[in-house]
Amino acid sequence: MVDSRTPQRAATEPEIATPALVRIENVSKEYHLGDASLLALRQINLNIHSGVFMALAGPSGSGKTTLLNLIGCIDTPTNGRIVIAGLDVTGRTADELATLRALTIGFIFQTFNLLPVLSAQENVEYPLLQFEELSAAGRRERVMHFLDLVGLREFARHRPNQLSGGQRQRVAIARALAVQPKMVLADEPTANLDHKTGKGILRLMRRLNRQTGVTFVFSTHDQRVIDMADRRVDLEDGEIIRLGMRSGKQWTYAMERANPDADDDDNDDQK
Ligand code: ADP
Ligand code: MG
Repeated sequence: MVDSRTPQRAATEPEIATPALVRIENVSKEYHLGDASLLALRQINLNIHSGVFMALAGPSGSGKTTLLNLIGCIDTPTNGRIVIAGLDVTGRTADELATLRALTIGFIFQTFNLLPVLSAQENVEYPLLQFEELSAAGRRERVMHFLDLVGLREFARHRPNQLSGGQRQRVAIARALAVQPKMVLADEPTANLDHKTGKGILRLMRRLNRQTGVTFVFSTHDQRVIDMADRRVDLEDGEIIRLGMRSGKQWTYAMERANPDADDDDNDDQK
């Protein structure tokens, strides 16, 4: 009898064939505070492939927010190059970046960032107002579709203060997805939620990632949240120390810094 199952492919195989959605090349970010400067990211090299569900992991101050802000074109790198969907975003004007952001990226924040005077429905609708080609009816249909996806159709007319934390974050997820972005960036999306609610939010994000194919990149320092990702990037003091890929419950690491405690002046140059 012929075995009709297709052979198991290596998890990396489809990615090799397609260019990365985000390419980060030798990126550093330095902040200046008066006379002092702080290197928040050093020599970051990272490819983010379309469709992944990626966690940026690391303790507070390790550079997660800085990296998300660079990927989201909210901020620009001090050195290096970032290419998003084939477009080199380095050296673009604020206006060009704003347009790219609006068309390509959805954001989810730790504090939800909903407009308090607007209903759930109006919050999701708000970013759609920039799309002139979308009729009022089309807009409303899209809003209800995404409220449905996050299980909040019945709460469409509720204002944020009439919703729980988990429900507010669901509205924020619907708002991020409604612009039909290529990727959604979420900075500690579960940090203001209790564990059970946070896990529900992560499950929802992962389901939407599978259903819609939208790439998700989120930051967290919660191990239980990290274990729901299929890719992880571990940051420490502004450096990537490890890249992980999960299959089942097992993480395999593509790269691991040999000696994280080595002295700064003891770096072995590999090239
Ligand atoms: P994380 O999100 O992992 O907690 P951040 O990216 O917020 O880390 O911060 C990385 C480092 O950069 C920290 O040392 C932080 O104090 C510093 N930093 C972040 N934002 C700024 C800023 N706007 N100005 C100066 N320093 C900053
Ligand atoms: Mg942060």
